[in-house]
Amino acid sequence: MQQPTGFDVAVVGAGPIGAATARHLADQGAHVLIVGPAEPPDYAGHDGVWSGHYDQGRLGHILEVPLVASLLAARSIRRFGELTERTGVEFTHPVHSLAVMPAALDGREPSEWFDLGRLKRNAEDVGHPVEHLSAARLRDRYPGLTFEPGHECVVQRDALIVNPRGLTAAELTAATAAGATLVRDEITAITAEGPGRRLTARSGSSWTANTVVVATGASTNAGGLLPRRLAMDTFGATVVLVEVPDPAAVELPAIMYFKQRGQKLLYGGIVMSPLRYPDGRWYIKCSGDSLLGNPLTTRDEISAWVRTGGSTDDIAPTLTLLRELLPAETAAAFGQARVRPCLVSSNHTGHPYIDHADENLIVVVEGERGVMAADELGRLTASLASTGRWSDGIPHQLFQAEWL
Ligand SMILES: Cc1cc2nc3c(=O)[nH]c(=O)nc-3n(C[C@H](O)[C@H](O)[C@H](O)COP(=O)(O)OP(=O)(O)OC[C@H]3O[C@@H](n4cnc5c(N)ncnc54)[C@H](O)[C@@H]3O)c2cc1C
Repeated sequence: MQQPTGFDVAVVGAGPIGAATARHLADQGAHVLIVGPAEPPDYAGHDGVWSGHYDQGRLGHILEVPLVASLLAARSIRRFGELTERTGVEFTHPVHSLAVMPAALDGREPSEWFDLGRLKRNAEDVGHPVEHLSAARLRDRYPGLTFEPGHECVVQRDALIVNPRGLTAAELTAATAAGATLVRDEITAITAEGPGRRLTARSGSSWTANTVVVATGASTNAGGLLPRRLAMDTFGATVVLVEVPDPAAVELPAIMYFKQRGQKLLYGGIVMSPLRYPDGRWYIKCSGDSLLGNPLTTRDEISAWVRTGGSTDDIAPTLTLLRELLPAETAAAFGQARVRPCLVSSNHTGHPYIDHADENLIVVVEGERGVMAADELGRLTASLASTGRWSDGIPHQLFQAEWL
């Protein structure tokens, strides 16, 4: 008879999704190891993997396409309150979430993403009341904001800003309280050993487990831990932070803004209500213009990107965007603008990957909504890892990985 290995399941990657996977496994009574580096203190001299969640705010809403993305977010978000109660870690606060875009896209069919009707129907299908505001009603409801003429919106008034660092801390707190072992290290190899796997870390430590879950986010292909490369793209994204001295003086909901003038796309990204950052200051956060302009493939490329600290070229267009959007007195009070490096990825299928790479190696990756949906993606992955089979009502086909 083959010998049992050290852990039932080892989760590689302690970001929102890995942490959620570990906590659901631990809640089920599994003997769980979770391994991932803590957030590095700075960028200069950085050598290693990076993450998509080193920030203070991510949208948590059900204004999504396709419908399954709204459903995953809804399932996840409804457990956030219970997670806070259980751990004492606060990581959400309420916000209006607006999806703003031209009523009709000049000269082209609306893409799947930028389609107000579809966003509204999806939200309603998962049971959330949202409202479609014409350009005139958008002006009436948010009189301090100046959107591009002819732009309309769908608004979800019970949306959340989710602090991704806080969410991760809450999941890890719950996981370790339920018996999971957390180790701060980077895994460099996963090899076959007996009926299970051996994990080896940069520090030289090593462990065995019956099943390994790789939850390493946008770094997944660069890590080389899987037998094949996943069909996904990874980008070095820049986040622009614009300081505001008094957040109470800035009336700004969270906005997914697709700003178009004639045939020209002027902005396509997220503008966040003011958030307090670890330096104690308040900033409006925007995704920078170069979001998908900086493809990265290897660990060395990721490290080199992080060391740049982000693209300062994104500052000027962001300030133009905010000066057009916000009242002149708010813009006049802007403090300094800074950039931060972030990693973002997208799967070629447009859906999360939750799948076996082989018999006892599972991968989970969601690049774009992996904070709002983290707890549900973790639950689904934990179920696959502990039982070896798919048992959810959403067909597994949707989450099957595509390999290169
Ligand atoms: C600018 C921007 C805006 C976004 N906006 C939103 C939003 O509004 N709402 C939303 O839901 N999502 C948003 N996202 C996406 C979201 O941040 C990601 O989907 C989410 O972070 C993915 O979580 P994860 O745990 O899979 O990956 P990550 O957060 O990247 O965490 C993966 C972890 O794995 C670790 N790791 C990597 N390699 C190894 C290794 N070899 N060994 C051990 N550990 C390893 C990393 O250090 C990291 O901590 C945004 C992303 C960006 C960049």
